[in-house]
Amino acid sequence: MRERTQIGIVGAGPAGLLLSHLLHQQGIHSIIVEARSRAYVESRVRAGVLEQGSVDTLREAGLDARLRREGLVHAGIQIQIEQERHRLDLMELTGGKAITVYGQQEVVKDLIARRLADEGAILFEAEHAAIRGFEGEAPRITFTRAGAEGEIACDFIAGCDGFHGVCRPSIPESAIILYDRIYPFAWLGILAKAPPASEEVIYVNHSRGFALASMRSQEVARLHLQCRPDEDLAEWPAARIWEELHARLRTADGDTVHEGAVLEKGITGMRSFVAEPMRHGRLFLAGDAAHIVPPTGAKGMNLAIADVRVLSRALAAHYRENRSDLIDTYSQTCLKRVWRAEHFSWFMTAMLHNFPSEDGFGRRLQRSQLDYVVSSREAGRSLAENYVGLPFAA
Ligand SMILES: Cc1cc2nc3c(=O)[nH]c(=O)nc-3n(C[C@H](O)[C@H](O)[C@H](O)COP(=O)(O)OP(=O)(O)OC[C@H]3O[C@@H](n4cnc5c(N)ncnc54)[C@H](O)[C@@H]3O)c2cc1C
Repeated sequence: MRERTQIGIVGAGPAGLLLSHLLHQQGIHSIIVEARSRAYVESRVRAGVLEQGSVDTLREAGLDARLRREGLVHAGIQIQIEQERHRLDLMELTGGKAITVYGQQEVVKDLIARRLADEGAILFEAEHAAIRGFEGEAPRITFTRAGAEGEIACDFIAGCDGFHGVCRPSIPESAIILYDRIYPFAWLGILAKAPPASEEVIYVNHSRGFALASMRSQEVARLHLQCRPDEDLAEWPAARIWEELHARLRTADGDTVHEGAVLEKGITGMRSFVAEPMRHGRLFLAGDAAHIVPPTGAKGMNLAIADVRVLSRALAAHYRENRSDLIDTYSQTCLKRVWRAEHFSWFMTAMLHNFPSEDGFGRRLQRSQLDYVVSSREAGRSLAENYVGLPFAA
């Protein structure tokens, strides 16, 4: 198979799918090459919090029909320090902004359905993808699909293939700087057939370790526990998980989580990572291919959406107005927002988790920061402003 398109996209996660849709709306043709099957990418449970700007982007792109029906709009979050909960009123602190809880796999399902309805090309189960020619004028993506060799020639390549993809490592080492931080803990996460612990997301700082109580719907809870990075899931039967969740989430008033059947469980490592710049020749990196945040700030999917919003506009200016300035500033524009989200995600992670090497001094500083955030309107406002998401670049 040999085809030609304007934009060759590697990866059908939120970044690649949304980019393809936004380009289509601008009359720009793209083809997505995805290693996994449609069923696999549609069932991958990951992020679930959409910033106000992400919801607005999906609405402007005509992708919010189900999101409006099923998304849970949260006007606030709860911060629990040991056994005491404090509410941050996001809406009041930010002049009317909120977050919406809507699973990443639902965003992905909506995007795939829409791309296919618009006769968009998504090549699922395309293996051994490699990218070539992006330092010159003739980029192409090669792959194997159903036993046959395939090649897509294009004007530009969008590397939307996540942290473990092939695009970023294809950039010569001398042309890219990698900033990396790995945290000394991970998250053990479950999906449970149980009502949420509260109407709003609860972040817990506890002497036993961090915990997070969120939800996917009124019937399905999403719960996380801080654990060791090398934790063995086999040592965590459901009963032990519930016991630990109760221990960390129970308040002085006796509020705790509701138990239910564990539908899924997994361990997620915690990392901060940025690759600079996000463009090399005719290759653009977007989403997790360029940056990773620890999930404490709920920024991963939102950054992916923000990147491709910038990229789609830059490519539209190139094709429709013959302008290259937005392409040239793509990396710089995205990185400004990326580093803000990196800082916020690091800040939330540092404030809420137990660091194994931390001494009493560090623990007291952390407690002081937590007390400040829940008691000072200005500190709460700063957290809220970052949590609902800063405005997009013009
Ligand atoms: C296990 C896990 C849990 C997470 N939990 C949270 C959370 O709780 N909260 C939060 O805010 N964020 C979370 N994140 C982060 C969030 O899910 C990501 O930021 C988001 O998925 C980024 O979207 P993306 O499109 O850039 O990348 P991805 O969603 O990773 O999509 C990349 C796509 O590229 C495909 N691909 C990869 N390599 C190739 C290749 N060689 N050829 C073709 N296709 C390829 C992949 O199959 C995938 O479909 C989590 C991430 C992971 C990995």
